[in-house]
Amino acid sequence: MERPRHKTTRDLKLGNRMRLLRTLYFDGPLTRRDLAPATGLSTASISNVTSELLADGLLREAGKLESEGGRPQVLLEVDPGHAHVVGVDVGETHVQVELMDLRLGVRAGARYAVAPGRHDPDTVIEYIVSGVRSVLDESDGTQVLGVGVGMPGIVEYGPDGVIHAKTFGWDEVPLGRLLMERLEPLPVHVDNGAMTMGQAELWFGAGRGADNAVIALIGSGVGSCIVTGGGLYRGSASSAGEWGHTTMEVRGRLCRCGCRGCLESYVGAEGMIERYRERGGPALPDDEEAALECLLEDGSEAARSVLAETVEYLGAGLADLLNLFNPELIVIGGWAGLRLSQRWMDDIAAAAGSYALSQPFQRARIVPGRLGADAVAKGGATLVIEHFLGGGRRAV
Ligand SMILES: [Zn+2]
Repeated sequence: MERPRHKTTRDLKLGNRMRLLRTLYFDGPLTRRDLAPATGLSTASISNVTSELLADGLLREAGKLESEGGRPQVLLEVDPGHAHVVGVDVGETHVQVELMDLRLGVRAGARYAVAPGRHDPDTVIEYIVSGVRSVLDESDGTQVLGVGVGMPGIVEYGPDGVIHAKTFGWDEVPLGRLLMERLEPLPVHVDNGAMTMGQAELWFGAGRGADNAVIALIGSGVGSCIVTGGGLYRGSASSAGEWGHTTMEVRGRLCRCGCRGCLESYVGAEGMIERYRERGGPALPDDEEAALECLLEDGSEAARSVLAETVEYLGAGLADLLNLFNPELIVIGGWAGLRLSQRWMDDIAAAAGSYALSQPFQRARIVPGRLGADAVAKGGATLVIEHFLGGGRRAV
């Protein structure tokens, strides 16, 4: 039988180190004096731990702050170049791999277009592995902490990273384990792409500082990340946030999940393009991202009716989020969501207002994502950084 484990001095020291590092990562730069109230550690502990972290190269000095009547205080921050992380976005149209510093600054990247219907695990794994290897060559000897992957579908959050992705035809694929076998000794973390994008927007983007928010991902498909009390809400088996498969119309359009009338089949890029074709719009390129761009530019009757309808369905879908979760903020991201919100943010918000209860609608802001089209990959990197810091933003 395993003996109960007592905390040793070493555990406490490690705990103090993590707490300080996390505080500086999320709230830095700070002076040693600021760190006492922010971490609850004693002045002596702060002095010891910051000296260690500076000596190890995890922290760096970031200028000085004049203090009244005393010596100027040195500002400390986590050195973003101390280590690198790899973030991966597995989308329906592409696999994107990026090497980033600890502040998610991109140092190198690799992108593979994925042909429709070529989403079998072997192909996707091959793209990821080859992308990771190519960006590792650019890391210039800097330590790489690990690989974080954002995937469509339901991801069982755990060491094997088991994926259930109906649109990819994947059922119980242990992607995390399969990638770890190929990428040893790098640790690999896998999560749903909407979750990774949500965490990146929450840490460094439009969601920064929000306690109750929803980050909506609109690409070929539609998902969301629900933030409650500052943390991600996963539900009982990690599938919370499948907003794309909430019903907008009973007996409506057939969705890729097999049900009818899901939001995704109206608002996702694939659903928009399909409806446009059914209405006899002019021919579009095969590439889905290029096709949506043409649809947005096209002034034809088919395009105008699909876009007007999409704005209304999206507004109604956002109204459901407002009524259910009463968020202070909704962020619209994903490659298609960013394009829609750049052009029609006011119309989308007005449509949300016409379907939502007025109290939750008036409390909330609806804004476009700030991290751009690679927010899912950036979010993949946050999975690795979260482990490095011994927990997320609220783990202190
Ligand atoms: Zn569906």
